[in-house]
Amino acid sequence: MSNTPAYAASAAGKPLAPFSIERREPGPRDVVIDILYCGVCHSDIHQVRDEWGGAMFPMVPGHEIIGRVSKTGAEVTKLKVGDMAGVGCMVDACHACPSCERGQEQFCEKGSAPTYNGTEMDRKTPTFGGYSTRIVVPESFALAVPKNLDPAAAAPLLCAGITTYSPLRQYDCKKGDRVGVVGLGGLGHMAVKLAAAMGAEVTMLSTSRSKEADAGRLGARAFELTTDPATFEKLAGRLDLIIDTISAPHDYNKFLGLLRPGGTMVLVGAPPEPTPVAAFALIGGNKRLAGSLIGGIPETQAMLDFCGKHGIVSDVEVIPIQQINEAYERMMRNDVKYRFVIDIASLGQA
Ligand code: NAP
Ligand code: ZN
Repeated sequence: MSNTPAYAASAAGKPLAPFSIERREPGPRDVVIDILYCGVCHSDIHQVRDEWGGAMFPMVPGHEIIGRVSKTGAEVTKLKVGDMAGVGCMVDACHACPSCERGQEQFCEKGSAPTYNGTEMDRKTPTFGGYSTRIVVPESFALAVPKNLDPAAAAPLLCAGITTYSPLRQYDCKKGDRVGVVGLGGLGHMAVKLAAAMGAEVTMLSTSRSKEADAGRLGARAFELTTDPATFEKLAGRLDLIIDTISAPHDYNKFLGLLRPGGTMVLVGAPPEPTPVAAFALIGGNKRLAGSLIGGIPETQAMLDFCGKHGIVSDVEVIPIQQINEAYERMMRNDVKYRFVIDIASLGQA
């Protein structure tokens, strides 16, 4: 299927511009999805700017994809033409290794195929993401999107949603738990909504006083400014779990001081530069510093079903693709409430 309109960066840090890609003809187990909406993740910015290293160009970003199935291969059973389907950060994996068998395809021993900035499992064919009008994926990597969710607002669930849902589940977030969410952006606002829906008492830890009212509306019980040293005295030893979504380097040690003994701080934000961690910030209180990478396909489906049940979607600002470079600049200034989502219909327009 040649001539699929897209937006691409031609080299590291270059602005995104119109581009044309080729999508494969669907095989027997593939579905073709006509993309309606694609969320804009901070990971798109890190990768377009090659901040994590090893970036492949031209790059068509986008891994928060929602669209309608327009064609199905002969062996497809789960989805049919016209269904709303989602694609997240992966488009394939080996399906056979212990990680894949556990439903943790993100840790596939052969290396899963990322939705963009990587290759298919043949390790040759480059993958291109959701800033494009259609995508072809194996049915097993297409998620069923609950019918009651608005598709534009549901798109960010495919990355921001699963990336925050997974650590909340891994560390058994439940009613009455005191959960701190650090950074109120795309991931942060989903963490607040999801933790609140699980019954946690959420404290928002932010550098932006202007976001205080929003944090309360999203479900946080408390809001504390991390630019104020008094916050770290007031909350010392109080939190059971911290989900850290900050995209830039910052001092983890200060936040570890907010955990109760045995508490866990999970890094999901992925600043490119390393940050020193003091042994005593962990030893004093048997604390754990953990990381978490997106989530596997079964857990992503469970997250979507949870969001369907609780009516949870992202707070979005829908933009035409022609505004994508400006949207990146606004995200760098923390000026987004709370996720940009591209209306892919704009790709067909001049
Ligand atoms: P985002 O929408 O840009 O939000 C990041 C938030 O972090 C900002 O809104 C801001 O919140 C805070 N922040 C930004 N710069 C800061 C600084 N210098 N100091 C302190 N706080 C700062 O980004 P996102 O899309 O949520 O992504 C966040 C991070 O998660 C990125 O690094 C992304 O690559 C990573 N990520 C990881 C995974 C994974 O699997 N682990 C998946 C997706 C994304 P306040 O204004 O409230 O302070
Ligand atoms: Zn993402």
